[in-house]
Amino acid sequence: MLKRRDFLYKSGVGLAGAALLPTAVACAQAQSKRKLGIALVGLGNYSRGKLGPALRETKRCYLAGIVTGTPEKATQWQAEYGISPKHTYSYDNFDEIANDPDIDVIYIVLPNAMHAAYTIRAAKAGKHVICEKPMAVTVAECDEMIAACRENNVHLSIGYRLHYDPHNLEMMRLGQQQVHGPVKLIEASDGWNGVNWENWRFHRELSGGGAMMDVGIYCIQGARYVTGEEPISVRAQEFKTHLEKFKEVEETITWQMRFPSGAAANCATSYATSMDRLYVGAEKGRFDLEPAFGYGKIVGTVNGQRMKQEHINQQAAQMDAFAGVVLDGDKNLVPGEMGRQDVKIIQAIYQAVASGKEVEVPS
Ligand code: NAD
Repeated sequence: MLKRRDFLYKSGVGLAGAALLPTAVACAQAQSKRKLGIALVGLGNYSRGKLGPALRETKRCYLAGIVTGTPEKATQWQAEYGISPKHTYSYDNFDEIANDPDIDVIYIVLPNAMHAAYTIRAAKAGKHVICEKPMAVTVAECDEMIAACRENNVHLSIGYRLHYDPHNLEMMRLGQQQVHGPVKLIEASDGWNGVNWENWRFHRELSGGGAMMDVGIYCIQGARYVTGEEPISVRAQEFKTHLEKFKEVEETITWQMRFPSGAAANCATSYATSMDRLYVGAEKGRFDLEPAFGYGKIVGTVNGQRMKQEHINQQAAQMDAFAGVVLDGDKNLVPGEMGRQDVKIIQAIYQAVASGKEVEVPS
């Protein structure tokens, strides 16, 4: 189970620690000369819009390979990123990547229900894995993914980029260190309404669920990393405004989470409207982000005063941090266990919708 300290905005802690250990720094600097080769699996919107471009900015890893089922995309990416055909794979010959020494990390950017199978195949190929959120669609799949990575001695991390975003790190610090007293109430919402109806996101078989799986997960994350606690129970309600379109997955869910300290979170997610907010009421103050969870400009306030955190390329920071895990043995801040916990909470929320009752989150 994840402990409170696992959420601490450790990048700063790590640097402070390293400053005291010159030998460790020298050692890390020597090791850090090597760059990790990353292969992206699935060249859809997120790979094309964010991860590919971010891999031009990373300092410790680079785009070394691609895996796609579309030959035109392969040609386009080869030209754009200088990828050799020998580092280009299809879903059919994917397992041959095991014999490619230039690829160290496989980054799974596929529909949610494909995450488990490809993570396991990547681990069996002996490659470290970054898997996009949600980690998988069931807790059992998460367990298999964690086990496969452990058995094959490779690292597994989830694409939780906000653990490297200075604004969200500040929210963790303010909440977990109780800078304004204990956290009492969190309000978190994340939604969007631009999803193309043809997209796999509307098909349960590929998505595992609707808005909750896609973006509601950020509200769960936010409440967990602000409190540094795990929810003990949830209540949830579902709403639909497009009855004919949302036949397989949910459109809108509101839910509440209770935490061991007595703190509560009131959250909402939707595919019918745009929302992007993380608000925290503590005993002696309040702090919030809006927008909170996107990769555009995040805006924060503390007791009404604007936060002054810098804006960074979250994906580049996330992938460079993972390179540190692999190359230097840095702590993995976003491990499979964290992704599993979110999937477990999501399943409890779905149960609460179905039963209309408060549902305990199993420990
Ligand atoms: P997308 O639909 O744009 O891309 C999905 C890719 O998977 C496409 O290249 C598609 O060709 C490929 N694919 C392979 N087999 C498929 C199949 N059977 N059906 C459909 N597509 C198939 O999706 P996306 O928005 O890039 O999302 C991909 C993953 O990344 C999702 O798990 C999503 O949650 C995650 N994501 C994360 C973030 C983030 O901020 N961390 C942002 C966007 C998406």
